Amino acid sequence: MDTNHFAWSLRIRNLSTTRYEKNIPETTNGLQPGGGTVRARDTEQRLMTRGIERVCVIGAGISGLACALAMAGRGIRVEVLGASTRPCASPVHLEIAPSMLRDLVHLGVGEDCVRTGFAYQGMDVVDGRGRRLFELPTERLAGQRYPAALGICHRDLRQILECAAMARGVIVKRGARVTAVQPHGVHMRAELESGEAVEADIALLAAGAGSDLRAALFPRSCPPDDVGQAWWYALVPRPVDLDRPLIGIGQAGRRAILVPVRHDTAGLALIEARRASNPDSAIPHLRTVLASFAPRLRAVADRLTADTPVALRPARSGLLASPWHRGGVLAVGDCAHALPPHFGQATAQAVEDARVLGELLARTSDRAVLFEAFERRRLERVRHVHRLTATAARWDVEPDSEADLSLLMNQLTQTVAHPS
Ligand SMILES: Cc1cc2nc3c(=O)[nH]c(=O)nc-3n(C[C@H](O)[C@H](O)[C@H](O)COP(=O)(O)OP(=O)(O)OC[C@H]3O[C@@H](n4cnc5c(N)ncnc54)[C@H](O)[C@@H]3O)c2cc1C
Repeated sequence: MDTNHFAWSLRIRNLSTTRYEKNIPETTNGLQPGGGTVRARDTEQRLMTRGIERVCVIGAGISGLACALAMAGRGIRVEVLGASTRPCASPVHLEIAPSMLRDLVHLGVGEDCVRTGFAYQGMDVVDGRGRRLFELPTERLAGQRYPAALGICHRDLRQILECAAMARGVIVKRGARVTAVQPHGVHMRAELESGEAVEADIALLAAGAGSDLRAALFPRSCPPDDVGQAWWYALVPRPVDLDRPLIGIGQAGRRAILVPVRHDTAGLALIEARRASNPDSAIPHLRTVLASFAPRLRAVADRLTADTPVALRPARSGLLASPWHRGGVLAVGDCAHALPPHFGQATAQAVEDARVLGELLARTSDRAVLFEAFERRRLERVRHVHRLTATAARWDVEPDSEADLSLLMNQLTQTVAHPS
């Protein structure tokens, strides 16, 4: 690298620090609120009214890939920049709730999901002895050709989205950690750790809830709260009689969920208070905890071996302060709304973002219009879903005799029954 180039990229980085790291009040549409020169304001105006032909997506998780797929479907050139060098192979499963299946069908990957995952109808909720307390219904929202809901491995869904996006011409770059995003002429410029840069008309920030870029680009927003709940995940052989999710209510706010995700695999999620979890000896801890659940869930302990990969994830909760855009950057997915994973809504809302983005891009290529319309369609809906999932998380952590999970699920089902 020649020295001139080095000095130049250093200047850009310093610029980024002064613009984003100070706690500057945000305007709804600009990077340089108040006090900017007339020229700077003109540039800003030009930036906001530019059409959208090229988009750079920061983050190759479910949200980034689903948005990339939706935008490529509108003829936009999309480049996805993912920090990790290889796709995440975490032993995590997802419940594709009815509303999420509807939106995945809309994005064109419904059939792939059905082929790969495990279709089910309804969920059983049982007590510690295995007695059925109630059934949580699942409505068919994706049309008669599709099942009501699916269990699927997180990595399988991510791969389906990535393959479909690439088939539509999306470029996915791995090992491409973005360190700064800022305007460059009429474009947005994402700078990579490697020293390279990618320019586009807008940048979509899909880097998750805990990303440094979220904090740097939206300094007024607080990081999401840790709700004090640990979610353990493992993939185990599927019990032959498990044909829909089984939710076991345990003691001290614990819950165990077993979801069929493939004909030979089930996903286990064990939920408990963070203070009760023991990350240093995962398998023995999970075995001990499972012993207090219903017999069908207790039996899963025998399917956990010393080599079974386990993931532990804190549940986080919090919305990015409005507006979700700044300059030419729009936040989506967990970055905009970190939801407790209850009822599969964390991922479902990320997929809704993608659907809405695709629909709006069919009507406008004006970035200011797009950003405003996106937030109008998403903010209230996500706030409502967030209230419901955060209540479910609170009931887990502080058991409440008035808690009515079935009623909560009902309210949620009604909220997401119609597309966002
Ligand atoms: C362990 C685990 C368990 C989960 N359990 C559930 C569940 O039970 N139910 C549910 O509904 N959802 C669950 N989820 C899904 C989840 O919470 C999200 O809602 C969903 O995947 C959308 O996330 P996202 O793509 O916005 O962010 P993420 O999944 O966090 O992806 C962000 C991506 O951006 C990349 N990135 C970060 N910073 C940069 C950077 N600077 N440059 C480039 N790339 C960057 C990261 O490497 C990552 O790949 C789970 C996720 C995990 C990881």
